[in-house]
Amino acid sequence: MSCKDNYLEVLDKVSEDMKKAGRDLSECTLVAVSKTKPLELLKEAYEAGCRDFGENYVQELVDKIPQMPEDVRWHMIGHLQTNKVKYLIGKTYLIHSVDTVKLAREIGKQSEKAGIVTDILLEVNVAGEESKFGFTPENIMDSVKEISQIPGICVKGLMTSAPICEFSEENRVYFRKLKQLSIDIKKQNIDNVHMGFLSMGMSGDYETAIDEGSTFVRIGTAIFGERDYSKKN
Ligand SMILES: *Cc1c(COP(=O)(O)O)cnc(C)c1O
Repeated sequence: MSCKDNYLEVLDKVSEDMKKAGRDLSECTLVAVSKTKPLELLKEAYEAGCRDFGENYVQELVDKIPQMPEDVRWHMIGHLQTNKVKYLIGKTYLIHSVDTVKLAREIGKQSEKAGIVTDILLEVNVAGEESKFGFTPENIMDSVKEISQIPGICVKGLMTSAPICEFSEENRVYFRKLKQLSIDIKKQNIDNVHMGFLSMGMSGDYETAIDEGSTFVRIGTAIFGERDYSKKN
């Protein structure tokens, strides 16, 4: 199957899952995760109607941007090093992967310099996996208060990557926890902090993430096929 067909099939599935969850399709965006994938495939997905693309590496992202139509919304979803922030500012629709106060400060600083406000999500390591970045469910509340004071950024919600699973259902507990954290933060009524967005759900578990309130599912493999990291330059 072509990735055009894959994209349409996943979109259909998302639509079905949203209906099943009693939600309106407009409340969840399918982000096609195109890291390591060549432009031809992104263009195929674009032709199928995809306008939201997710990338993990700054260099790859900034290389791809000028080669794709201007109405693409670029999502930075990978771990972001502070010293790379300056290359990204003004180019993203949303940065999903803000995982430290220090990184938030740098995004704020560079955004102010550029005279813009950058929308961000805060990444939470809900499952406490050692291999993953993110705030902990325990320290996110203090951090969000600190981050809310930083000019040049606007916190739009939370993001998580749940563990690799065999069945989507296994990750329900983590999605539910992220949703609950967003409710707890919202209750604090912090200035400049919105909790409208929940970025959760990947190829293996998006059905359950949608059921638990996801507003961005980040799908790579199911659209573009397996990734081959050995070819990455
Ligand atoms: C690669 C990646 C995805 C996509 O994962 P698939 O399992 O291929 O759908 C989603 N989110 C993040 C943060 C990723 O790094």
